[in-house]
Amino acid sequence: MDKVYLTWWQVDRAIFALADELRKNFMPDVIVGVARGGLIPAVRLSHILGDLEVKVIDVKFYKDIDERMEKPVVTIPLHGSLEGKKVVIVDDVSDTGKTLEVVTEEVKKAGASEVKIACLSMKPWTKVVPDFYVFRTDKWIVFPWEEFPVVVRE
Ligand code: 5GP
Repeated sequence: MDKVYLTWWQVDRAIFALADELRKNFMPDVIVGVARGGLIPAVRLSHILGDLEVKVIDVKFYKDIDERMEKPVVTIPLHGSLEGKKVVIVDDVSDTGKTLEVVTEEVKKAGASEVKIACLSMKPWTKVVPDFYVFRTDKWIVFPWEEFPVVVRE
């Protein structure tokens, strides 16, 4: 599969675009960040939107690029109640959409009154189109936090 490499600068601009959309259309009480890919955008959004509470959920679905397990499994469940809260779920990308389906279910079970999804990106074939997203691609996205310079020390 072709890959597209994003820089920190491109990702930060995308996060600011999401923040603008959220501010205008759906100011959440709580952000649920999907580990691992959604965590950096979730924390960044929390700071930009005024120190919003961030909760974490971890769902495992991929073993490797394009190698999926049968269905997503919640490995870190949501902690505490979301009773009556407006919640935005934040992830890096909606690919099949199955992860976001599971996370949405969990957020509703925790009592959220309203739930929206914000992602940096989506694939054209996803079955969960995020309420807010910045770009579409059919390539495998490599985010800047997935890459690191090789430092050789003597
Ligand atoms: P889905 O359940 O929508 O198929 O996959 C969601 C998760 O798989 C995302 O949260 C992300 O961590 C990972 N994923 C899916 N597609 C990509 C991609 O193109 N690049 C990266 N880095 N992760 C991806």
